[in-house]
Amino acid sequence: MKRIVPALVRGGADAIKVSSTYPSAPSYNGTPTMTARPPAAPASKTVYIETVGCQMNVLDSELVVGALKRVGYALTHDPSTADLMLFNTCSVREHAEDKTFSALGRVAPFKLANPAKVIGVIGCMAQKDGDAIRARAPYVDLVVGTGQLAKIPELVAIIQETRDPQLAVSLGRREAGKREVEMSFESFDPTRDPEMRLTPFQAYVRIQIGCDKFCTYCVVPSTRGPEQSRHPDSILNEVRILVDQGCKEVTLIGQTVNSYIYDHGDGRRTRFSDLILRIHDVAGLRRIKFVTNFPKDMTDDLLDAVRDLPKMVKYLHVPLQSGCDDVLGRMKRLYTVGEYWEMLHRSRERIPGVAVSSDFIVGFCGETDASFQKSLDVVDRAKFKNSFIFKYSERPGTKAMERYPDDVPDAVKKQRNHDLLMLQNERSLEDSRAMIGQAVEVLVEGPSRQGAKSAPGGIRQLIGRTMTDHIAVFDGPDRLVGEILTVDIAEASGFTLYGAARTGEAIGGEGVLPVARLPRRMGLGLV
Ligand code: SAM
Ligand code: SF4
Repeated sequence: MKRIVPALVRGGADAIKVSSTYPSAPSYNGTPTMTARPPAAPASKTVYIETVGCQMNVLDSELVVGALKRVGYALTHDPSTADLMLFNTCSVREHAEDKTFSALGRVAPFKLANPAKVIGVIGCMAQKDGDAIRARAPYVDLVVGTGQLAKIPELVAIIQETRDPQLAVSLGRREAGKREVEMSFESFDPTRDPEMRLTPFQAYVRIQIGCDKFCTYCVVPSTRGPEQSRHPDSILNEVRILVDQGCKEVTLIGQTVNSYIYDHGDGRRTRFSDLILRIHDVAGLRRIKFVTNFPKDMTDDLLDAVRDLPKMVKYLHVPLQSGCDDVLGRMKRLYTVGEYWEMLHRSRERIPGVAVSSDFIVGFCGETDASFQKSLDVVDRAKFKNSFIFKYSERPGTKAMERYPDDVPDAVKKQRNHDLLMLQNERSLEDSRAMIGQAVEVLVEGPSRQGAKSAPGGIRQLIGRTMTDHIAVFDGPDRLVGEILTVDIAEASGFTLYGAARTGEAIGGEGVLPVARLPRRMGLGLV
């Protein structure tokens, strides 16, 4: 596999890793990177992209498609006709990797039928496994890690010209000094592609890359490299451009977003709360969210900013992972359950009405029935809005795999996953029901799944998010989409509030639309 950038060579010409030498991509910590863009070239080729994983990957796909459009690609949803097929991958759990290999198997016949097509594996798996991906799927032409995505258009062009496969991955954490490794995870000039966003008025904005927490079960510190906070001016610049394009809500993303701190190198430091304050000033922006938080870095200045700034969504996603201190110790989460409770109480005291959600891993190494019971106890009492629950998946290269046997049988993991989820669902239902009778402010995202079955134009069921990140559905005309309006909540299921929209304020008409029809069987699932 050939690389174009001269850099560190690992094991001959077939596996070359790049350092920071790429001339045109700016460094993550550098000055603002977003510049006026030349207009996109007329589309002559098509790209198909599949994305697995977290918000970071969703944003990366948006950036990659934006960059490809600049060189003449159009987005297609049909892999069989695409000139370029990209798979943006996740390595957090084995299941996510399996999904990518089965997707590759699905498109392999298209490549066999037309060898001129280019298949690329990009993102976390590419960074973690590099050229090993081609050992399992030899028809893959392109492997590009999370820190090298800006090079994709150039590498694809080389493949099309030479038919030589290309590999671009950043340096491993132990392959060079910290600064050099940091520099090898280059930023990606945010050439955004609105077509890739869920809605035109909501966008992710990356404020931090990488992670230095090194939880023992997690691959992210290797797949996304060292933690680096982005220059605040660069972030501000991007938010202003997004707002000019019609964006009303930004979600600031980072692996531990509340650890954000930018050191200007002249004695000045921008904390996360300082950054939020500056973003809050952007005229036209209506809402600001952020994910994901690390419990230990939840400072009072941040909580006060969330409370005091009206555009801040009153919602904190703060993963606990386990309710047992022994398990947290083996996970190296750097806090105890008691410290998490202190953070939770402090957050609720400082931000009245704040919604909090969590992540849990069940069946981590050495998790006994007694330790799992402690996770149940926390979920029972913590009043989380919701929790994401995962079965522990042993990951090669992690400290957990090196140190501890994966000793909880899969059947037990499954049962614990189910039990914790059922308990959380009951608590989520209570949380939702407590909102019945409230008037909530909702940003309307579009038709709900049920509403999408009716023809556009009339009144149909719409879906939106409240200021506490709850999902609300209500009936209304499509012209409400993208508006912020008040909804009177009349009913609730596990994760959905049902209400009536006050339309006067948004569309100039009088009154309140009828309450959205409740599903016949009030379940706990999403609408
Ligand atoms: N940075 C975030 C944090 O610290 O909470 C989350 C990043 S991770 C991509 C999202 C979630 O995946 C984690 O909160 C954890 O619950 C889960 N996760 C990570 N590694 C896992 C593993 N090896 N097996 C199962 N779940 C895992
Ligand atoms: Fe992974 Fe822990 Fe970093 Fe989150 S904080 S990305 S779980 S290492």
